[in-house]
Amino acid sequence: MQKFQVDKNGFYGEFGGAYVPEILYKSVHDLQDAYLPIVESEEFKAEYRALLKDYVGRPSPLYYARRMSERYGCRLYLKREDLNHTGAHKINNTIGQILLARKMGKTRIIAETGAGQHGVATATVCALMGMKCEVFMGATDVERQHTNVERMRMLGAEVHPVRTGNMTLSDACSEAIRDWCCHPRDTFYIVGSTMGPHPYPDLVARMQSVISEEIKWQLEEKIGRDYPDYLVACIGGGSNAAGTIYHYASDERVKIVLAEAGGHGYETDHTAATLHRGSVGILHGAKMLVMQDDDGQIEEAFTISAGLDYPGVGPMHCHMARQGRSQVLSINDDEAIYGGYELTRLEGIIPAIESAHAVAALSKLTFKPDDVVVLTVSGRGDKDIKTYLDNKQMAKEYGDF
Ligand SMILES: *Cc1c(COP(=O)(O)O)cnc(C)c1O
Repeated sequence: MQKFQVDKNGFYGEFGGAYVPEILYKSVHDLQDAYLPIVESEEFKAEYRALLKDYVGRPSPLYYARRMSERYGCRLYLKREDLNHTGAHKINNTIGQILLARKMGKTRIIAETGAGQHGVATATVCALMGMKCEVFMGATDVERQHTNVERMRMLGAEVHPVRTGNMTLSDACSEAIRDWCCHPRDTFYIVGSTMGPHPYPDLVARMQSVISEEIKWQLEEKIGRDYPDYLVACIGGGSNAAGTIYHYASDERVKIVLAEAGGHGYETDHTAATLHRGSVGILHGAKMLVMQDDDGQIEEAFTISAGLDYPGVGPMHCHMARQGRSQVLSINDDEAIYGGYELTRLEGIIPAIESAHAVAALSKLTFKPDDVVVLTVSGRGDKDIKTYLDNKQMAKEYGDF
């Protein structure tokens, strides 16, 4: 286990750390000192577990997908994070962080959001706890993801459109960090993925690790052994993937396959395939693989999937990929669209377009008939119906539906 865990300085191999402006030193150090004693305390665990059970609806089912299994010649199980309250895995993390914020005596919550999923999950737990919530969101995304903006506003959050840079997720992160610099005392920044300065990548991975904790006992119950041959997940910043693999990171019997967003192809300029294309750089407080030009200017990420639209990727995943522990596949927009339709037509489950990238990865793997494959469906596709319908043509070459 130790090999892929964060070290005491906040690094995973050469990646990670906490590169923050001086004004945030104290806030970040306070958080580094506070998080482990709190999240490992019995009191925190009891509250966190109770909310996951009764509010989020956990455990999420591990579902044997019979028709998809026949199609791919393996035994495929779906980890159904799409059935969580608010429709994705993100709520596992926001519940944990808001409990931590309360224990640290913070009164104001800020968050960044891209597609709006993390913003909604944060606004939701703020309503639940009666805390003030402000969400930074790129102005472009505010336009594109209007329903989620309305959900956040209904939940009582204030949404700040960010008009710098490309006006998307990366700019929203920068703006949230800027706000945190101005209000270091009372404000807790709820980060949405396994990114940001240490301890966020470790904190978020721990909060999502409930996914693999459940996979273990659910597999034991269903097949009489507590590990699969393959784990498959999509990867943006890396939080649903981190949760899926957490308890198997050093278990060499388990192959790890991650699907990142290829966009038009990782070899083109329209891609978000950071693990294929990135080089070492510092973004939003951590050293990681970043898509950047020769001068270190961050390049815009491109993908049909707003939730994977980030030019960096969490340090834990950079390390695991570089060590060869995970196999990373780049899945293009058209392949993801097809994957989404395939799961819908074979199992009656409409996945989020992000999760559809993981589904599409199955066609690039070769299985033996008794291989057990667990694939995390990170979210539900309600938010993506228009994207699927508008882009159906794109997937025609892969089959009829
Ligand atoms: C946000 C999101 C992702 C990508 O984020 P990770 O931190 O990489 O998990 C994937 N799937 C869904 C449904 C999302 O909302």
